[in-house]
Amino acid sequence: MATAPIPLAALLGEQAPLDALQEGIWIADSGGRIVLANRALLRLLACESADVLLGKPWRELIPTADYNRLVRRRPDEELLFVGDTRIVSRDRHTLPVSITVLRRVVQNQVYYIGTVLDTSAARAEQGLTESTSRQVMEKSLDGICIIDNRQMIYVNRRLEELTGYSSPQLGRLTLDRLVRPRDRRTISQILAEPHRLLVPVHHEVAIVNRAGQEVHCELRIVPAEADSRPVLICYLRDISQLCQAERARADFIAMVSHDLRTPLAAIKESISLLAETAANSLDNRQRRYLSIAREEMDRLNRMIDNLIEVSRMESGKVNLHFEAVDLNRIVTVATEGLSLFINKKGLTIARNIPSRLPPVLADPDRLLRVLNNLLDNAIKYSPTGGRIVVEARSVDPKSPLLLEPGILADTPYIQVTVTDEGPGIPAEFLDRIFGKFERVDPHGPGIGLGLAIVRSIVELHHGKVWAHSVLGEGSSFCFILPVKEEN
Ligand code: ADP
Repeated sequence: MATAPIPLAALLGEQAPLDALQEGIWIADSGGRIVLANRALLRLLACESADVLLGKPWRELIPTADYNRLVRRRPDEELLFVGDTRIVSRDRHTLPVSITVLRRVVQNQVYYIGTVLDTSAARAEQGLTESTSRQVMEKSLDGICIIDNRQMIYVNRRLEELTGYSSPQLGRLTLDRLVRPRDRRTISQILAEPHRLLVPVHHEVAIVNRAGQEVHCELRIVPAEADSRPVLICYLRDISQLCQAERARADFIAMVSHDLRTPLAAIKESISLLAETAANSLDNRQRRYLSIAREEMDRLNRMIDNLIEVSRMESGKVNLHFEAVDLNRIVTVATEGLSLFINKKGLTIARNIPSRLPPVLADPDRLLRVLNNLLDNAIKYSPTGGRIVVEARSVDPKSPLLLEPGILADTPYIQVTVTDEGPGIPAEFLDRIFGKFERVDPHGPGIGLGLAIVRSIVELHHGKVWAHSVLGEGSSFCFILPVKEEN
């Protein structure tokens, strides 16, 4: 269970939603073995699952003759290989691709990042005249601009419409000035260091148009080259209608979940009363039915709580009440609340939390929800009679973890880990499962909100959460939270 999480943000410059990218991406470890492959790469290679690729040397993706022909830079350089080559998919099709391999050192570990772009379509397009390509850009439904040295050197008509500014006016503006202040920092950073952008990134931003109105857009920034200089191609897609629909959906879920709470509480109360008052007159089978009804009621309640919490977080309506929280106490409350399920599966909960560990600075109710959701999963996926371990320890002040975005500077942190002996989680899901409605098995139990809530809560506490797992052996979920210091 010692495998460290792949530091995606540090490697790719941004927490890119890898599976949303059109380019195939792999990340290989210092031995050149693939540890992560995105969906586009699986598609290009006609692989059904990443398992076929994981552990395989990335060199084997390229025919040896081509590999030797690729422009090879010095081994200590960041850009290792670049060039056009072919890859052979599992269904034995040869595909022309453009490949880039970068070598990056993060947290003292060497990683190789490969980007594979299918060029078969581009070749077909080579016959297009420049004027046709320009027309394609002009008639695009996305706003498009090309940025060289912060300046927009080309803007299409759609971008003029979206922003309300003419092309010469946009030429005098920079993209970061076009977005609302709270989205500005990330964009400014990318514009300031375009050479650091290695793979395309997506951001949801709001641009402020000439009339002062905010227009919600999906911004895709793609690194490119013009006359050997790095330029950025930006695509802005108006998603305001989508955002409106999303808000309506969230409001609907919030309303329905709230309204479900009252009848559920009444049913739960009635079942409890029935169990108490009729305790002596019920036979074993009837008692079992009542106990099943109670358990399922609890499960439904937890689902509804999660739905309500998610919609609260999405609408930004969460007020956190920070105080010093003793981890040992909160773990006790969480395990007691779940004791019915723990006992039913005959599980052992081992705890390794030193009593002298300082308290964390947290909202106790929210931290309880984090532990509840992690333990609930650990229980759900543990085999009968399995062992769950809850550990807590101080984070080494020199740990690269404390340099991750969102972590408070010069602040001691505590790491909590919940480990189970369940079936484990495939590597390509380890990041994704923290997204809303993401589940490894879409037909399995649950609705895929528990971990999304865990991540939101932990991040609201200036913490970080991640998972590692060995298939067939188990999973560990770790999170770090700041220590409540004396003053
Ligand atoms: P839910 O459990 O309600 O589906 P979660 O967000 O808590 O939603 O979890 C998302 C998915 O992550 C689960 O559906 C499951 O596929 C996977 N998962 C979470 N925890 C574990 C675990 N301890 N062991 C194996 N898989 C897990």
